[in-house]
Amino acid sequence: MPHIIPPEAKSAAPPAVVWFRNDLRLTDNPALRAAAASRRRLVPIFILDDAAGGKWGPGGASRWWLHHSLTALGDDLAARGAPLVLRRGCAADVLAALIGETGASAVFWNRRYEPHASARDAAIEARLVSRGVTVETFDAALLHEPGTIADRSGAPHRVFTQFWRACRTVAEPPRPHPAPLRLTGLATAPGGERLADWRLLPTAPDWAGGLRRIWRPGEAGAMARLDAFLSSAITGYDRTRDRPGRDATSRLSPHLHWGEIGPRQIWHAVRASAGDGGGAERFLTELGWREFSHHLLHHAPDMPEQPLRREFARFPWRRADAHLRAWRRGHTGYPIVDAGMRELWTTGWMHNRARMIAASFLVKDLLVPWQDGAAWFWDTLVDADLANNSANWQWIAGCGADAAPYFRIFNPVLQGEKFDPDGDYVRRFVPELARLPAAWIHKPWQAPGSVLDAADVRLGQTYPRPIVDHGAARVRALAAFAAIKRYAS
Ligand code: FAD
Repeated sequence: MPHIIPPEAKSAAPPAVVWFRNDLRLTDNPALRAAAASRRRLVPIFILDDAAGGKWGPGGASRWWLHHSLTALGDDLAARGAPLVLRRGCAADVLAALIGETGASAVFWNRRYEPHASARDAAIEARLVSRGVTVETFDAALLHEPGTIADRSGAPHRVFTQFWRACRTVAEPPRPHPAPLRLTGLATAPGGERLADWRLLPTAPDWAGGLRRIWRPGEAGAMARLDAFLSSAITGYDRTRDRPGRDATSRLSPHLHWGEIGPRQIWHAVRASAGDGGGAERFLTELGWREFSHHLLHHAPDMPEQPLRREFARFPWRRADAHLRAWRRGHTGYPIVDAGMRELWTTGWMHNRARMIAASFLVKDLLVPWQDGAAWFWDTLVDADLANNSANWQWIAGCGADAAPYFRIFNPVLQGEKFDPDGDYVRRFVPELARLPAAWIHKPWQAPGSVLDAADVRLGQTYPRPIVDHGAARVRALAAFAAIKRYAS
């Protein structure tokens, strides 16, 4: 790449690079705001660094999301006067090249907290600073940065309620800043790559039809989602959030993961519109779980692979490939599990209650390692997030911080009857059971033959029989747990 120093750079202050990562927004983006306030000409860049995350590079659904989110960000930046540059490669090398080409003397970015990202960023910062480049970094992704909330002895909290109580005693998060109205880019923007050439979208086959139908990636889509939630569902959120058949949660998770909206924006919008009623308070607590997961990952960098409770390293997991395949495809014979897994496959998202039931079924009824389930979620969720995904899988498996005790094993029939009492959720995602009456929809194998006939259900043909018997699987899971109890410290 030739070193082109634009003519205006010789007379004015050197430009500044704004490195976008998981903060694909203009509003409440402190790195962008500080760079703009420095009155330099800006070079916004996004770098696709395929090697950076190792096995935790974005999965298929995340790549789909990223493509559309970058399109939206590129349009927004161009409209304000500083077009987004796209480049692929090792982030350190790409930044060094860009600095050489543009004569930039400063780089601004918002901090990330995944262990691989923060280690990489620290190395890049050291390299840039050693070459005389100013680096300024900011907090944008969390309400409380990891390391800022600790117990009286200075140790990190391991119990959510204590962690969240501590968060609530510190000052309210700062108010978000508006998006800059205008930005000044270079007269001649540095060359970049075409987004289409990154091939983030699936083609053969194109499995993203269901995602296109329901999601609108980008900052405007995130704001629309927040507004819709605040005007419809937040008041009753505490009562309805566990009902997968209803549209009762915010669905902000992918927008939050990619930073198209920040938690401070959500926090203050909730406070302003919903006050501190039960729905609002409960919703803010869910943001607290997001905070807690990021803190856990910061303090236990091997959390995506290793159990936080070390005795679980000896757990007698099974290799059960046929069962794992049936679970992934939503063919377990347990309707609430299958509805969740099919919602995931068709929309890239799954309701939290269904995630809990489906994950519990995999690790307890099938005794498949939680890491296998986490890997599937990683590839198929549009909100796949290293902190949230690993912390929640560990919580369900019983090996996480503050985890539900292992012996509390979800019964998929009772969970279905309790949280999807009319069977709406199952009917939507498992259409072959749609005509079954509610009394049988969560346990079709117990329905009388005449009921199955009338609903056109032929077990083993149109819908599978249960791949395990839950009662027997429960006994087996408890025996497996008993085998490691003696190693608990
Ligand atoms: P809301 O109910 O509207 O909650 C608002 C926000 O709070 C969410 O967008 C999310 O950022 C946060 N939140 C809510 N519940 C949790 C939770 N239990 N843990 C952490 N943050 C939470 N969430 C992800 O964002 N990415 C993941 O990869 C992920 N993997 C999960 C895996 C399993 C096995 C389980 C049980 C849960 C997982 N979750 C994950 C948490 C949760 O299911 C989703 O955040 C939630 O369903 C997203 O929908 P929503 O935005 O409508 O949530």
